[in-house]
Amino acid sequence: MAKLYFYYSAMNAGKSTALLQASYNYQERGLQTLLFAPAIDDRHQSGCITSRIGLKAQANLFAPKDNLLEQVEGYLNQKQELKCILFDEAQFLTKNQVFQLTLVVDRLNIPVLCYGLRSDFRAEPFEGSLYLLIWADEINEIKTVCYCGRKAIMNIRFDAENHKITEGKQIEIGGNERYVAVCRKHFELTEAKL
Ligand SMILES: [Zn+2]
Repeated sequence: MAKLYFYYSAMNAGKSTALLQASYNYQERGLQTLLFAPAIDDRHQSGCITSRIGLKAQANLFAPKDNLLEQVEGYLNQKQELKCILFDEAQFLTKNQVFQLTLVVDRLNIPVLCYGLRSDFRAEPFEGSLYLLIWADEINEIKTVCYCGRKAIMNIRFDAENHKITEGKQIEIGGNERYVAVCRKHFELTEAKL
C-alpha cells in the first residue's frame, strides 16, 4: 500500500540531494517517477531541481492554484505509469494540495515523497509542512548541524548587511545564501552573520 512521506529539515541539509537520489533509485530499476518543484523558487525557473553537490533533474512546476490530484490523473490518462511522485520545497504546498496528495496516495495508490523545511525564519510553520506533519504516513528528519555542533532545527535569515531578520514575508524568492541553519539556542542568541 502506498504512503505519503514527509522528509523535513532546516536549510541546506541536503533535501534536494536526498530527493534526487530517491528518484534515481526508482529510475535505475526502470520505474518512472514524476518530480515537482515550486514555481516561486527562482532556482527552479528552468523546471529543474538542483542540489548543492551538483546533481540535477527536470521537474514540473507547481503553483498554489494547481490541483495536484488532477495533474497526476492527467499523467495516468496518457498511459504513463508512475511508481513514485516527489516534491521538492514541499513547504510551499497549500493545505488543499497536501490533501490532494493524500488522495493520490489513497485513491491512486502511488507513493508521494515530500521534502521541505519545517519552519520559516520567524520560527513559524509553513502551511505545507504543517499539514504534512499531521497527515503524512511517515515523517523523517534529515539532520544537519549548527555551527556549535548541535542539531540545527531553525533557519535564520540575514539582510544584505548580515543582520538577523525576524519580520517580513514568509516567502522571499531566491537568496538561499542569506539563510543559515542553527540550533534553537543560537536562533535566539545570533544577531549577525558570523
Ligand atoms: Zn548552536
